[in-house]
Amino acid sequence: MKNIYLDHNATTPVDPEVIEAMLPYLTGKFGNASSVHSYGRDAKVALEKARESIAEFINCEPEELYFTSGGTESDNIAILGVANQLAKRRNHLIVGATEHHAVFEPAEHLAKSDKFELDLLPVDGEGFVSSEKLTELVSEKTSLVSVMHANNETGVIQDITKLTAIAHEKGALFHTDAVQSVGKLPVDVQELDVDLLSLTGHKIYGPKGTGALFIRQGIKIAPLFFGGAHEKKRRPGTENVAGAVGLARTLEIASARMTKDNEHLIKLSDMFIDSLLKSIPDCRLNGPRTNRVPQTVNIAFDGIEGESIILNLDLKGIAASSGSACTSGAIEPSHVLMAMGVPAITAQGAIRFSMGRATTTKDLEYTLEVLPEIINRLREMSPVYNRSK
Ligand SMILES: *Cc1c(COP(=O)(O)O)cnc(C)c1O
Repeated sequence: MKNIYLDHNATTPVDPEVIEAMLPYLTGKFGNASSVHSYGRDAKVALEKARESIAEFINCEPEELYFTSGGTESDNIAILGVANQLAKRRNHLIVGATEHHAVFEPAEHLAKSDKFELDLLPVDGEGFVSSEKLTELVSEKTSLVSVMHANNETGVIQDITKLTAIAHEKGALFHTDAVQSVGKLPVDVQELDVDLLSLTGHKIYGPKGTGALFIRQGIKIAPLFFGGAHEKKRRPGTENVAGAVGLARTLEIASARMTKDNEHLIKLSDMFIDSLLKSIPDCRLNGPRTNRVPQTVNIAFDGIEGESIILNLDLKGIAASSGSACTSGAIEPSHVLMAMGVPAITAQGAIRFSMGRATTTKDLEYTLEVLPEIINRLREMSPVYNRSK
C-alpha cells in the first residue's frame, strides 16, 4: 500500500530538527517563563530569543510579535480585538470573500450584532480580490480590512501592498492572514505595509498549536482573554516556550530552504497540472497559473463529488482534500470557488492536492496513473455528468 501525502496545506509533519530544538524545553529546561528563579529565567531567555528570531524573519520589532496557539487564534485576536477597540468611532469591517473560516467567522459573528457592519470584498475568476471594489467600499467608518496573503485552497497570492494603501488612505487598519505564505514566500511586514499579520507553525513543518500575531507598535486592541500579564496582557496564559522555540527553528529552516523548496515544488506542480489537464477531460485548474504558492494545485472534475474522489484516492494510499464543507449533512461546495464564480456542478468536484518537501515525481506519477480510472468510474455512475454530455 502506498503512502502518498498530498495534503500539506492542511498540516505537515514536524521537521526532526525542530523537535530537537524543542526537546530541552520540554524536559530539563521546563521552567515557567514568568518565574524569577533560574528555571524561569532560562525559559524567559529562550522565549525572547525565539521572538527576536521570528521578528527578524518577518522584519518587525520583537515587541510587535505576540505568541498565540496558531492561525485561528491570531486571526480572532486581530479581527475581534481591532473591531471592539475601535467600535465607538468606526464600526465597519471589510473581509475578502475567499478568507479562511478563522477570519470569516469572527467577522460574521460581529456582523450578527447590530453594532457592526460587514462587507465582503469580491474576487475575480482567478481569485484575486478587486482593488477597485475596495476603493468603493472603504470609508471613514471602516476600522479594519482583512485580506489573506495566500489562499489555502487555490494558492493565489494577493497584491497586499496595493490593498493596504487603499485602506490606509481612509485611516482603516489592515490585517492579513499569512498562514499559507509565511515560510513559503518572503514575507516582510514593512513591504506589505500591514498593521496586523497572522502566522502558524504547523503548515510549515512546525508543531501544531504554535503561532504568532504581529501587531504594529501603537495599535491598540481590545483583549479577548483576561488573566496574567503574559504577552503584554494581549494574550495571557503561561507561554508555550518549547512551541515558541520550535516555531523559531521552523522559520529558520524554511528561510534557508525556501529557494530550493520552491524550485522543487514549481517543477512538480507544473508537471502535475499539465499531465492532469491532458489526461482527463472536463477538468479545470482553479486559481491562476502564476502568482500562486506552487505547492497548491486545485483541480475541479466536472459532474462528480470531491468527497467520492477523496475516498477512492484514500483506498489507493493517496491523501488529498476537497474544499467542500459538510454542513448539516449536505455537501456544500467551497465558498472560495463559489466566490470565484465556479459553477456549483464544477466546484463540487474540486480536489486540492498540496505537495511538500518530501513529495517526489514518482508520487505524482502514481497519482496520475490511478486518477483517470477513478474519475471515469465515478462519472459513469453520475447522472449529473451523463446528463450534461
Ligand atoms: C490553516 C489555516 C488557518 C488556521 O490556522 P491554525 O493554526 O490551524 O489555527 C488560518 N488561515 C489559513 C489561511 C489557513 O490555511
